[in-house]
Amino acid sequence: MHATTYLADYRPFPFALERVSLRFRLAPEATRVQAELHLTPREAGAALVLDGEELKLIALAIDGADLKPADYLLTETGLTIHPAALPEGAFTLTTEVEIAPALNTALEGLYMSNGMYCTQCEAEGFRKITFYPDRPDVMARFHVRIESDLPVLLSNGNPVAQGAGFAEWDDPWPKPAYLFALVAGDLVATSGSFTTMSGREVALNIWVRPGDEDRCGFALGALQRSMGWDERTYGREYDLHIFNIVAVDDFNMGAMENKGLNIFNSKLVLASPETATDLDYERIEAVIAHEYFHNWTGNRITCRDWFQLCLKEGLTVFRDQSFTADMRLGAVKRIEDVITLRGRQFREDAGPLSHPPRPDHYREINNFYTATVYEKGAEVVGMLKTLVGPEGYRAALDLYFARHDGQACTIEDWIKVFEDSSGRDLTQFKRWYTDAGTPHLKVAERFENGTYTLDFTQETAATPGQAEKPARLIPIAVGLLGPNGDEVVPTQVLEMTEARQSFTFEGLGARPVPSILRGFSAPVVLERETSPAEQAFLLAHDSDPFNRWEAGRALALSTLCAMAQGGAPGGEYLDAVGRLIADETAEPAFRALCLRLPGEDEVAQALASAGAVPDPDAIHAARRKLMETLANRHEAALAATYAACAVPGPYTPDAAPSGLRSLRLACLAPLSAIDGGARAQALFDSATNMTESLGALNQLIALGKAEGPLASFRARWENNRLVMDKWFMAQAALTPPAAAVARAEALAADPLFDWKNPNRFRSLLGGLSANHAGFHRADGAGYRFYADWLIRLDPMNPQTAARMSTAFETWARYDTARQALMRGELTRIAAQPGLSRDLSEMTARLLG
Ligand SMILES: [Zn+2]
Repeated sequence: MHATTYLADYRPFPFALERVSLRFRLAPEATRVQAELHLTPREAGAALVLDGEELKLIALAIDGADLKPADYLLTETGLTIHPAALPEGAFTLTTEVEIAPALNTALEGLYMSNGMYCTQCEAEGFRKITFYPDRPDVMARFHVRIESDLPVLLSNGNPVAQGAGFAEWDDPWPKPAYLFALVAGDLVATSGSFTTMSGREVALNIWVRPGDEDRCGFALGALQRSMGWDERTYGREYDLHIFNIVAVDDFNMGAMENKGLNIFNSKLVLASPETATDLDYERIEAVIAHEYFHNWTGNRITCRDWFQLCLKEGLTVFRDQSFTADMRLGAVKRIEDVITLRGRQFREDAGPLSHPPRPDHYREINNFYTATVYEKGAEVVGMLKTLVGPEGYRAALDLYFARHDGQACTIEDWIKVFEDSSGRDLTQFKRWYTDAGTPHLKVAERFENGTYTLDFTQETAATPGQAEKPARLIPIAVGLLGPNGDEVVPTQVLEMTEARQSFTFEGLGARPVPSILRGFSAPVVLERETSPAEQAFLLAHDSDPFNRWEAGRALALSTLCAMAQGGAPGGEYLDAVGRLIADETAEPAFRALCLRLPGEDEVAQALASAGAVPDPDAIHAARRKLMETLANRHEAALAATYAACAVPGPYTPDAAPSGLRSLRLACLAPLSAIDGGARAQALFDSATNMTESLGALNQLIALGKAEGPLASFRARWENNRLVMDKWFMAQAALTPPAAAVARAEALAADPLFDWKNPNRFRSLLGGLSANHAGFHRADGAGYRFYADWLIRLDPMNPQTAARMSTAFETWARYDTARQALMRGELTRIAAQPGLSRDLSEMTARLLG
């Protein structure tokens, strides 16, 4: 069993490591790695402890002299050189190891994907390449020589030499080992350039397998837009002569920000109108930006230890969200981000995996690349910006870059720059980083003699390991509307610091309607007694687009909750939707978001947090019924909007046409519930882009009328891995619940189900877990199928198996029979002999 690591145990590395030279002689099953580490002791008498896993030690020397067996200790996790064998001053350690990239199925360290060598070192993959102090606070300059017959040999930094069978790269910027990267393969580049704000020319390359190069143009443009935006918005200039991106088919995550050599899951690079949806394009642009932005927030300034992961991730997610908001529609982006936050992070926070953005212990750090670290981490940065204002935020960031460039930092360093630049004490605010759980913010109101008072209370439920939850500083953006819908008090930010606190507004002529938590100014659950009539009023009148959408969402959610418990849809909701369909003044993308019903998992979460036990079948039926009711009530308006949103001319992924397509598909969903799929079939037959083709196919699958379209889709795309991932995912996620597990079983037996490819595995298994009523089938068949596959994947790829085990994180929501079935599967997984430390930590936490 792997030991737990604690934040409180942090100690600096007792050696300085300024320079590293690496030499790789690549061979699929016997790659040789020679490493030269230039070390200087910082503490007398310290042993040199290096991490290393699955390495075959070939040679080991200090200053050219081989070490004797008595000088060191070699274990399964590393190499310790005894103090007596170390010189007192600076010395050079040389090692040679052998590794087998072709046998590396975990996809951590150096591995192979379709004949190409590539690396993934974050968080702790570098220790599978060579013996090294594999920790982010050891920052060194790397020189890399790669020897191979493959035509393209890439590493970090700038190219300094190349010839027949070799290339050398030198990275002038000190970096931790997790940012190391190497790629070797038969690749082709789509190239461009960028001139930085100081006039330097940077060569840009997107490397892909031959045949994919016609689908890289959008990614290249996104990179250029990101580089320009970071200069304009944050004053950050790129710092090497070259920037390379490589697309890889077998990749555990989305993408990785290795210095000067980003490695991407190919689904986040390759796009053409025929193969990628509007959402894919938006996501590609956002992830290209995210990884590029890490060059400053992550690489130039990195994390002292992995507990500080949200220092780089929360900030960089916040930066990429702001970028997308600037490139597209800011209000729509904010709503999409909050949907993601609630769907993933609030769900995580409500279950056994709840943890603070900065945890204080872990067994396997790979299990902490979570929605809490990323998405909630970004919300916390957004709140800081709200508290100090846009100028104060820029001043704080300028100070952060000036003070900490080249350093490995902590959340304390980050908070301190805001305190020093704004003069504010942020001690209480820091609880957002150290405390787990989603605060519930209750509000009551009073109106007397022109004075309106909001009485707030905040409360956060106990989370694993944290019973006490002191009050947090919560920025609450509030505006007030008059009875006719005009804004009588514009947005102001109330700072709540106590467990109970009241705020008053004076001089009002009539009782106002409050618009609270505008722009979703804090990641909390707002609880307020309200009425469908008032929600409909805000949906019609609120000047804050987020809260306008929020009012409609709350109305939809309460309607679905009532229907899932045997009620009927209320007239207010149906009327409000009717007004919205016809509201030509609102952006199509915004109307699409308002028309889309909350997902079944969101309804289940809402019921559970109101103290009810969600019934997955009843929720599914309620959602289908509401769709049908909406369509019957507003058929003419929906059909007219559907027709009016057809985008003429050639496809572009820009915000305006994407918004129209999004509204069109949002109308198609209810229409399909009453037209027998006629429109969806017609759209599928005529579609010239993947957005509409897949959008139509989704409706047909949900109706159980997709056999023909699925076959023709497959016949057309079976040689395109990324498109076939969609084919697997759509069927697993949308097949009617009673047939979902049988469909998933059939898909798992399909010859195209290459389960060792993480994208394909996630498409099928992730699709099934998104099929709420299918996954949660009362007889437990969904749970069993899912657990069987996690057990099968774990020895091959523990990281992906562990991440996907979060499908079970909501077990406590459901009835006792389902609880017992889910816990039974988790217990069965936990009992597997040889279970990875990744998955065993997850099952232990999930079981509580
Ligand atoms: Zn990141």
